[in-house]
Amino acid sequence: MNSMFSSEELQGENVLVLGASRSGMAAARLLHEAGANVFVSEIRDADKVESAAAELEALGIPLETGGHRLKGFPIPKFAVVSPGIPSNAPIVHHLKQEGRQVVSEVEVASWFYFGTIIAITGSNGKTTVTRWIEHTLHQADLNAVACGNIGYPFCDMVREQRRVTHAVVEVSSFQLETIQRFHPHVSVMTNLSEDHLDRHGDFESYAKAKSRIWMNQKEEDFTVLPEADKMIASISLSIRPQILNVSLDRVPELGAGVHDGQIWINLGSSQEHVMAVDELSIPGRHNIANALCAAAACRILKLSVDEIKQGLATFPGVPHRLELVHNNGRLWINDSKATNVDSLRVALEAVRGPVILIAGGRDKGAPYVPLRELVKKKVARMLLIGEGAMRLDEELGDLLPTKHVGDLESAVKEAYATAQPGETVLLSPGCASFDQFRDYEQRGDVFRELVEKVHTGQNEAATGEKTA
Ligand code: ADP
Repeated sequence: MNSMFSSEELQGENVLVLGASRSGMAAARLLHEAGANVFVSEIRDADKVESAAAELEALGIPLETGGHRLKGFPIPKFAVVSPGIPSNAPIVHHLKQEGRQVVSEVEVASWFYFGTIIAITGSNGKTTVTRWIEHTLHQADLNAVACGNIGYPFCDMVREQRRVTHAVVEVSSFQLETIQRFHPHVSVMTNLSEDHLDRHGDFESYAKAKSRIWMNQKEEDFTVLPEADKMIASISLSIRPQILNVSLDRVPELGAGVHDGQIWINLGSSQEHVMAVDELSIPGRHNIANALCAAAACRILKLSVDEIKQGLATFPGVPHRLELVHNNGRLWINDSKATNVDSLRVALEAVRGPVILIAGGRDKGAPYVPLRELVKKKVARMLLIGEGAMRLDEELGDLLPTKHVGDLESAVKEAYATAQPGETVLLSPGCASFDQFRDYEQRGDVFRELVEKVHTGQNEAATGEKTA
């Protein structure tokens, strides 16, 4: 068994789960089912975790809320820590000082999983590549399931779906910080940029956490890496797995790349033509990079070039990431996941202009000035919402007609009233959502509904006119 603790060893063992979040709950369920004596500690107050508390009570799992006092809990054999809890949190420090192992939920799941693990990490593009690999593996009729950081914990997947042959696991740096034996057969690192420095403190520790993805890989395993990423090159110098490179500028000796607008895979012995870049199902240069990662990973998993082509040409994309939600001669695109300036740049580069840009939300403080050239070139009008409207206007507003519309509903109505055929209405806020929404998903869902509403409203009005 690929395990730190075999299932027999877990029988009756005391295990502490820190955090009654989605992944903490998944770990608690799995370990409980394996016969461990699980108890859960949650820093939030009881009224914030009502449904988790009810479920734990039904399972007979003790829960403390409002802090990690661990009062009345037995000494744990090990603790499972939620990705939301920093590795320098006092409780984690305390447990380590007591000599307790602290592991992540993906680590626990991997003790129970015996199929092939494909693990995806990086600063941007993780979810897209994870879903794209899953979709492409399905073209070969493989029983592949995406899980992990995408909102479906690996522990839940292991418990609920027994016959999965390929687990496609998105892993964040926070999860990687506390793996021990988690062993991907194929790993992918999409790119590395200075994201999440608030939590990791400096780039070195962020890169160090990410590089743990290779920690348990062996010489017979593979990793897919972007050739041009200097940061990744600098931290992957002496890793064990075989490297498959991806490149937008050439076909690497081993890996996948683009030459003359065509996608090729090179496994050393032969170069295989896959398809034209234009045949990819989703737009943007960044998505070519994502497609190459998926192609390289799937080829090394022995898919045929035809199956890969099928996967790359039919992937529907991921909701809230440049998602086409309506086309009435104007493209309506939901890119609510663009919660920072860099993602807004990526979106503007990817979509067809002229653009009516809906932007704003909770300002994260990064400058918008680097977008000036691109905005001048691509954006026709700006509709600003939320708290970030002021600064967006100050830094970009002099370049183009700009209107403060306040909220998303007014933005959609205004865009609907003014968008010309051939224009693209793009929600790509460049800001977090928390000033007006629960999260970026709710913001994108509301946008999709509003777009649908203005269009059906218009159709009804049109029908009404005809029959009146
Ligand atoms: P993650 O899961 O890493 O947050 P997603 O696949 O959800 O990444 O994409 C989020 C956003 O990141 C996209 O809307 C896009 O703006 C940007 N993005 C996606 N892929 C890449 C890439 N390969 N390089 C740079 N930016 C990207």
